[in-house]
Amino acid sequence: MPAPAPFPRVKRQLLISDFDESMADADSDRWTFEVLSPRLRRQFDDLSHAPLAERMQFTDLCAHLLEKLHVEEGKGEQDVRAAQRQLYMHPAMVRGFRAMRDAKADTETQTTCFLLSNSNEVYLGTILEHHGLQTSTYRLFDEIVTNPAHFEPSGLLRLSRRILATAKDQHDCKVGCSANMCKGDELEAFLARRGGREAAGFERLIYLGDGGNDYCPVMRMQEQDVALVRRGRGLEKRIKSEGEPKCQVRWWNDAWEVEELFAALRNQPLY
Ligand SMILES: [Mg+2]
Ligand SMILES: [Zn+2]
Repeated sequence: MPAPAPFPRVKRQLLISDFDESMADADSDRWTFEVLSPRLRRQFDDLSHAPLAERMQFTDLCAHLLEKLHVEEGKGEQDVRAAQRQLYMHPAMVRGFRAMRDAKADTETQTTCFLLSNSNEVYLGTILEHHGLQTSTYRLFDEIVTNPAHFEPSGLLRLSRRILATAKDQHDCKVGCSANMCKGDELEAFLARRGGREAAGFERLIYLGDGGNDYCPVMRMQEQDVALVRRGRGLEKRIKSEGEPKCQVRWWNDAWEVEELFAALRNQPLY
């Protein structure tokens, strides 16, 4: 792909990022089993391709297999955290995010970063801390919205849906978001917590994503916004089959291209 064309200059923008296969070059849910139990990784695939009527909701499926990982394979907190620390984060992606976060106040576009992920608190916390991106002294993300998770004293990783199956208020998204979370609703709620995008001063929203569940938030963005869409995955397929968003779409294959796009979005030369 050619080097990115420039973007209009803005003072403030919001970067919303998906995690699995977008910010990270792997899928954290599958990764745990790929590292710790090939047998359960096979079950993950088989169960997630079961006939629709018998298929478990995705977060429930992950939670179910994490129980098996603990009970049948004896894996605990140390094992899961060690596996997540090995998950591949491309250095160009890490550099690109840091450059967005660390923009100089007087000369560069100011970017607020928001992580919106269907992974979970334990995986994201472990990985981001390991890469020095979310620690007691450095906060890349203003906010992280994902599924809740914690280790029980036994070492079992207990994962639950962001919207519990028992909750009275389920989301009513019609675009096809999974029951545990509507990323479009979560984006709107994030903006509402800041008094709306105008009050927050976000002249542009940027969405980095790859998956089918990133389609809903991207469809809620406006003309001046930009979706950075990874080629060849669920989000591209939905854009092509169900319709294009109002916002501009820029494509990428690999992390180094995102670093270039981020530099263009900050109106700063990368090299
Ligand atoms: Mg993804
Ligand atoms: Zn939705």
